[in-house]
Amino acid sequence: MSLSLVYYGNAILRKKAEAVKNINQDIVNLIDSMYIVMHKANGVGLAAPQIDISSRILVVNLEPYKGRKIGLINPVIIGSEEEEVPFEEGCLSLPGISKEIYRSKRISIKGITPDEKEIQLDADEMLARVLQHEMDHLNGILFIDHLEDYLKKELTPELKKIKKLNKQKII
Ligand code: ZN
Repeated sequence: MSLSLVYYGNAILRKKAEAVKNINQDIVNLIDSMYIVMHKANGVGLAAPQIDISSRILVVNLEPYKGRKIGLINPVIIGSEEEEVPFEEGCLSLPGISKEIYRSKRISIKGITPDEKEIQLDADEMLARVLQHEMDHLNGILFIDHLEDYLKKELTPELKKIKKLNKQKII
């Protein structure tokens, strides 16, 4: 399977992704491919809509930061701590942009792993942040949506340039 990133401006990034109904070999292969695309782009997290597939699947790999590597199908955040903390975020769908974003310090998430195990995990710090960022993607939300309007407006010239990356791909 040859997959590549889509960028800000592509409508799929604004759609609520669909639940996976059947975890078959295609889904397992898709998750393997998502890790490959993510690593090539030096990302720590990726959601399926970012590679033009509107399915509720995310992958995270924090092994370079001594964290965990996890792929989740149909993930749901079942709890989040009220306290929010700021941290600089970027996104493979918005190359070149990074902004400080407030997110819950700690969350609980459940989902299904590629080997069809239902799991629940408590995440904090970096893992909590990446999971919240990827969950947003499954709901059509981008990290810049969390910014104050005036900050988002300042990004207009950069966003225009990023939109053009989608067209380059079609050739
Ligand atoms: Zn992202």
